[in-house]
Amino acid sequence: MSKKIIITIDGWSACGKSTLAKQMAKKLGYVYIDSGAMYRAITLYFLRNHTDWTDKSAVKDALKQVHLHFEFTEKSQQSEIILNDENVEYVIRDLVIAEKVSEVATIADVRKFAVKQQQRMGSQKGIVMDGRDIGTTVFPDAELKIFMTADIPVRVERRFKEMFEKNPNITIEEVKSNLEMRDYIDSNREVSPLRRADDAVLLDNTDVTMEQQLSFALKLVKEKRAAMAMQDA
Ligand code: C5P
Repeated sequence: MSKKIIITIDGWSACGKSTLAKQMAKKLGYVYIDSGAMYRAITLYFLRNHTDWTDKSAVKDALKQVHLHFEFTEKSQQSEIILNDENVEYVIRDLVIAEKVSEVATIADVRKFAVKQQQRMGSQKGIVMDGRDIGTTVFPDAELKIFMTADIPVRVERRFKEMFEKNPNITIEEVKSNLEMRDYIDSNREVSPLRRADDAVLLDNTDVTMEQQLSFALKLVKEKRAAMAMQDA
């Protein structure tokens, strides 16, 4: 049996990172972790509890009350995020959260809190994690790193379709400005800004089908494993 590896998938908002990560995890029998869900759940907690996140001590106190974990759910056949015993997988996808999450994700203490748990989740390897800083900060030594991008109109269209199903009042302009705002904040923040790691493979899926991108990514895994086996031999 091949050695388990860590696979990181970073990239811009709404370019299909989680879709690819889930498919890869399923094919490989790996655990999939959606790191963005953690930042979204923290944001949900802050909003519900009126935490003033510009106040360092308020953030520290609030984080002591935040307990996050992922649980495999029969219905969706996927792991979903649990915040203090409540499944928040679906509420955190709301635009209200998307409007604030990048601001919350700039806070150093919030990042430290999330990164520590993410690193623990990967300690046994056999994991696919997607996010913004996974290949650069969380697992800088990951065996395989992918950096995803796609043209903005394609990303907007995909995310709009997804959100419109749950909220028919949403407009394409709202979705576009949210994606642009998040990309800007995520790539300009001081702590762990969104960057392509030097050793990450670029995947632009603007004109690529889901099947094509999955087979491209699985080929990378195969190549990596072959290279590792050669080294071990
Ligand atoms: O992946 P998703 O779009 O759900 O992430 C929501 C937000 O969480 C991102 O826009 C970003 O601000 C933050 N995030 C982050 N670092 C990660 C994952 C997500 O800062 N590793």
